[in-house]
Amino acid sequence: MNLMTSRLERIFSPGSIAVIGASRNRRKVSWEVLHNLVTYGYQGRVYPINPHASSIHSIRAYPSVLDVPDDVDMAIVVVPARHVLQVVGECGQKGVKGLVVITAGFSEIGPAGAGLEAELHSLIMKHGMTMVGPNCMGVINTHDGVQMDATFAPVPPLKGDISFMTQSGALGVAILEHARNIGVGLAKFASLGNSVDVSGNELIEYLENDPETRIILLYIESFGDPRKFVKIARRVTKVKPIIALKSGRTEAGARAAVSHTGAMAGPDVGTQALFEQCGVLRVGSIQELFDLAMAFSLQPLPRGRRVAVVTNAGGPGIMATDALVGYGMEMAQLSPETTALLKENLPEEASANNPIDLIADADGARYRLAIKAVLEDGNVDALLVITVPPIVTDEVDIARAIWDCARDYDKTIISSFVTRTKDSPAFMELVNHRVPSYLFPESAARSLAAMATYREYLKREEGEFQVFEVDRKGARKALMGARKEGRRRLRETEALALLEAYGFDIVRTKTVSDLDEATAAADEIGYPVVLKAVHPEIVHKTEYGAVALDIRNEKELRSQYDAIVKGLSSRGLEAREFMLQEFARGGKETIMGMNLDRKFGPMIVFGLGGIYVEVLKDVVFRLSPMTDMDAVRMIEGIRSYPILEGVRGEPPSDVPALAEFLQRLSQMVEDFHEIAEVDINPFLVFERGKGCKVVDARVLLAPEGS
Ligand code: ADP
Ligand code: MG
Repeated sequence: MNLMTSRLERIFSPGSIAVIGASRNRRKVSWEVLHNLVTYGYQGRVYPINPHASSIHSIRAYPSVLDVPDDVDMAIVVVPARHVLQVVGECGQKGVKGLVVITAGFSEIGPAGAGLEAELHSLIMKHGMTMVGPNCMGVINTHDGVQMDATFAPVPPLKGDISFMTQSGALGVAILEHARNIGVGLAKFASLGNSVDVSGNELIEYLENDPETRIILLYIESFGDPRKFVKIARRVTKVKPIIALKSGRTEAGARAAVSHTGAMAGPDVGTQALFEQCGVLRVGSIQELFDLAMAFSLQPLPRGRRVAVVTNAGGPGIMATDALVGYGMEMAQLSPETTALLKENLPEEASANNPIDLIADADGARYRLAIKAVLEDGNVDALLVITVPPIVTDEVDIARAIWDCARDYDKTIISSFVTRTKDSPAFMELVNHRVPSYLFPESAARSLAAMATYREYLKREEGEFQVFEVDRKGARKALMGARKEGRRRLRETEALALLEAYGFDIVRTKTVSDLDEATAAADEIGYPVVLKAVHPEIVHKTEYGAVALDIRNEKELRSQYDAIVKGLSSRGLEAREFMLQEFARGGKETIMGMNLDRKFGPMIVFGLGGIYVEVLKDVVFRLSPMTDMDAVRMIEGIRSYPILEGVRGEPPSDVPALAEFLQRLSQMVEDFHEIAEVDINPFLVFERGKGCKVVDARVLLAPEGS
């Protein structure tokens, strides 16, 4: 048992528990906690602590934990906030190693509470205790040897293989009740409250190694350490699915709208990127959280995406088909033998094609026949059985037919008894025999698709973190000028130099300050060329008419030069610095960038670029650092990826080069945390084998001292 496990073992498997602040008053949380421990059948010893009662719940009570004659492994603290430090101090003295502090009134109420919380933290550190909370609703371990319901939830949990972590206590109560209602059983439960000591990350690592836990559910309001979460979740999701509900918006810092990247990073991209990167299945509601939990808990993962639908009504069959396809599943093409068998045995009005419609008077026997036929079919990976509750036949009989057939196959089978929920006999019949059943086909389809996604995720390669040889010194030099002058924005030339130091190819560029220098530079580079005016006040040069493309000769260069100077002066800007570039042809415009998020750290962006990027918004975000496979999947993740593969006979673009530069960019921003934004737009990608070139780059530093 490693240290990590033993730290949480104190919380989840204590041999004895003191309930500090246990009350005789039934209406109090502190009564409920003791009551739950006792009635759920906690296997260890319980000591109520209350200075004003000699017994509570027929159990002998003690005035202080120090008065308990035996060892106490864990204490549940439910005293008012002002007494918490004292009782926790006593716990320390007594040698109590685990604490669950339910009491509220800490950092969640503001500065006064935050002070108290800091004192509580140092106290538990001093005594080497493990603490869940404060401001939480407790913990549960349904394991037979422990049987601990240390919460104030009104209904006891069912035993199962799902473990659930919540950051909201109030929601926790509702969730426990809902889980029970739909027959979802729990292994472990923890409400973390203010996560002063035990964090979500630590708990996930504990659940990773917990043999009773097969599925992990999370309700997250904010990430403590998102970068650590990625590392842990990436590993855990390869063994156990993590299904997460994330509420609230990310605390993305106020962004200078200097870059395209910054402008496109909406409030939720960090969370989205993070979950995608580590294979966490994200849901949008509590309902969906449990829909998925039920499917994952009761059924094996589908081998593929081909689904057959068996129904007794046409409408729901079509709805299910739409939903399945919408969630990325495929309608299975039944084999000719299956179709023939069905045709032969089903009534004439029935449909023997997928979705298979058994029509309204279908009974258990007809369902049984169709289900068996479909499950025998090698073209079918999963089965969705729909029943609109019949008037004439017995629905329990149908439910029985479903689970009975399901037992004989290792294919995924889920059902929807339309409008039938927890209280219906058909629902109970199914769920008790490990077939998930949903109110509507759409929930069933979504859950099935999530399982298919997870199955694909299990097979996906996570890749390696590559380290490239770069010129760090050169990069530092490129960054220094701005710092020295108190600028946050790098000059164009500095930005290009920075990228060059990290191995980026730059289109040939010369900085010039007047027309003579410009013509000389053009001769050196060779026509056609591009002329750009650069100016500290100009962010997007095109908007200022400061870019002239495809200049063929000196005459054109002169007239473009004049036009740019005039244009800028009409806006009150004096053009003093220009860039002369080779006119790059034959590449596709992509955008590559980074936006430093206060919470998530550097977020890398990739998409098809050019001046329309904000309109098209076809970009993918990932958290840095990233693996080579992250980079490849990021590129494949944009909607317009087929354009990079080449359409209408075009050669494919150099995607491997793009992937390499995404990683170089990631390495650069990991090396220099003072970089707040990078925007390479366009980053031209040429045909495969011919690489990429930076045309235009913008770099912004974080405010000094941040
Ligand atoms: P900004 O983004 O500040 O408006 P850019 O330097 O990106 O200015 O130029 C605007 C557009 O002009 C680019 O998106 C690209 O399409 C084109 N362009 C700029 N420089 C070159 C070049 N050297 N070769 C080819 N096209 C270029
Ligand atoms: Mg640009």
